[in-house]
Amino acid sequence: MIKINEHHQKLQASYLFANINKRVREFQQKHPERDLIWLGIGDVTQPLPAACISAFHKAVDELASARTFRGYGPEQGYDFLRETIASHDFQLRGADIQADEIFVSDGAKCDVGNFQELFATDIRVAITDPVYPVYVDTNVMAGRTEAFQDGRYPGLVYLDCTPENGYSPQLPREPADLIYLCSPNNPTGATMTREQLQAWVDYARENRSLILFDAAYEAFIRDDQLVHSIYEIPGAQDVAVEFRSFSKTAGFTGVRCAYAVVPKRCTAYTAAGKPVSVRDLWLRRHTTKFNGVSYPVQRAAEAVYSPEGQQEVRKLIDYYLTNAAYVRESFQRMGVACVGGDNSPYIWVRTDRDSWEFFDFLLDKAGVVCTPGAGFGRCGERHIRISAFNSYENIQQAMQRIAGVLQAQSPSSLSR
Ligand SMILES: *Cc1c(COP(=O)(O)O)cnc(C)c1O
Repeated sequence: MIKINEHHQKLQASYLFANINKRVREFQQKHPERDLIWLGIGDVTQPLPAACISAFHKAVDELASARTFRGYGPEQGYDFLRETIASHDFQLRGADIQADEIFVSDGAKCDVGNFQELFATDIRVAITDPVYPVYVDTNVMAGRTEAFQDGRYPGLVYLDCTPENGYSPQLPREPADLIYLCSPNNPTGATMTREQLQAWVDYARENRSLILFDAAYEAFIRDDQLVHSIYEIPGAQDVAVEFRSFSKTAGFTGVRCAYAVVPKRCTAYTAAGKPVSVRDLWLRRHTTKFNGVSYPVQRAAEAVYSPEGQQEVRKLIDYYLTNAAYVRESFQRMGVACVGGDNSPYIWVRTDRDSWEFFDFLLDKAGVVCTPGAGFGRCGERHIRISAFNSYENIQQAMQRIAGVLQAQSPSSLSR
């Protein structure tokens, strides 16, 4: 008899986006004349930069001739891309990362989901609440939790991100061996300061823990005081792995290219306490289970770093950041508390009422689709996420509608 991995039975059905779509469909059936504006999705809307498109085309043409054809490439990625990444994203920022510490992949979601495979089942895992659900679910599947109970999985260490702590995870009182951090954050849009990251790196060094640092939104950082990589923090190379993606940076959500940085100095331990190189473990895992990103896609990713590519990517991100600033400032003018939107495409809005109820209210009254915070964890309750991935015209219109319906209510309806 073929038996299942029982831990899968603990997973909660992913109701969030299914539920959003269901509510929107029902609304549209009742009100076919209403036009809706979607500010719910975490997907980009603008086309690929021209530099990427032309590199992509050129690489496809190379595959058409036997002389320039390429079959399997190196599993970790072509040297041309790994070297460009190491030099541009790290060495130029003063972080000593080498090309052989870069692992090119088809997505940060896979990397951040797969990485926990390297570690024992009985380690303690810390995750923030609210959270990008991949961190939680992959650890549930691996058997690191008990059954879901009161909105949480016993066995995980939850780091509450609330208005009181500025949505920044605080060091846990209980020990944590594997720690997931995401900055700029999805869903809150909050960023971690140099000092906050230093405290986490110091904690990890003291406790021989490992930080998995998700920097998928690094390109949205405009504040010079914020670090772009965790390796700008002294000591991080011994205790942190970093995940980056071309998805939000350059519009690659459908094209698929990302990378993980696993420094040679990063250490984990055998049961007997013997140090083992995390980079060597990941190299073995990656080359065993993955066969590389396609050549044209890696050429398109390389083009992100060309002078034209850099200019185009900057323009692309600026476009979304202009949208995000408009959203943030509109809420501030309405007297509604929010974070994010300055170094992030997301704005995390305090509704101070049930997040699904507020979702329905915005859908019904303003024709705007947002994401209810409760879908990201218990601490997401009484919040919604607004995404800046849309056209500037739609963003303006949505915010004018929201301002209209909130003013029509009692002026303090949000701060009840
Ligand atoms: C979008 C996103 C990613 C990137 O995923 P890809 O698989 O590279 O498209 C990773 N982490 C977070 C938090 C994200 O929002």
